[in-house]
Amino acid sequence: METELVLPVEHWNEGKRIGLARYERAKRLGLRDSFGQDSAQNHVYGACGEAAFALSMGIPWPHDRSIDGFVEVADVLPNWEVRTCASTGGMKVRRACGDGIRYCDPPGRIVAFVLNSHGSPSYKMVGHVVAGWAQLNRQLSDPNNRGRPAHFVKMIDLALFAPNFHEHHGWLRDPQSPSGWGCAYCPTNFEGETP
Ligand SMILES: [Zn+2]
Repeated sequence: METELVLPVEHWNEGKRIGLARYERAKRLGLRDSFGQDSAQNHVYGACGEAAFALSMGIPWPHDRSIDGFVEVADVLPNWEVRTCASTGGMKVRRACGDGIRYCDPPGRIVAFVLNSHGSPSYKMVGHVVAGWAQLNRQLSDPNNRGRPAHFVKMIDLALFAPNFHEHHGWLRDPQSPSGWGCAYCPTNFEGETP
């Protein structure tokens, strides 16, 4: 994988398109983003981070449900939540899903940290953590009193991305795949098919 890349303009355009579509959809449904203030800029920023991450991993993006932004669908298939941030103060893992919790991360998702200065086309894929680990091992906090407590993971806790990350598939049980096995990191199944 590329651990650092400059996002080509056509991928940036895709990020912008998806981000704006999510913003329009959120506005229609009266939703607010995880900062408690929905803005087109936040949606575009996050979607461009997803585009950069998918490109760095060689995973097609957007996928057919990218606009939904629903928790049932991962940001980047098969299993990635992507957090794009301009500082390395800590990566937010949302609460485990439960009654009445709209903004959550399913415990089996892998949450990737992408570093990007606002307005810069340069992205750094820093590291990742399994959501369930953070939910069990890092206390909830709500540092800016936004009413959205989350589990904050320090950079030192992340498994760092290296150029040889995903040199080989990481097989995991996947009921969707004909053989019952799929890659934990990309949408390929054990038969070598990418749906
Ligand atoms: Zn793979």
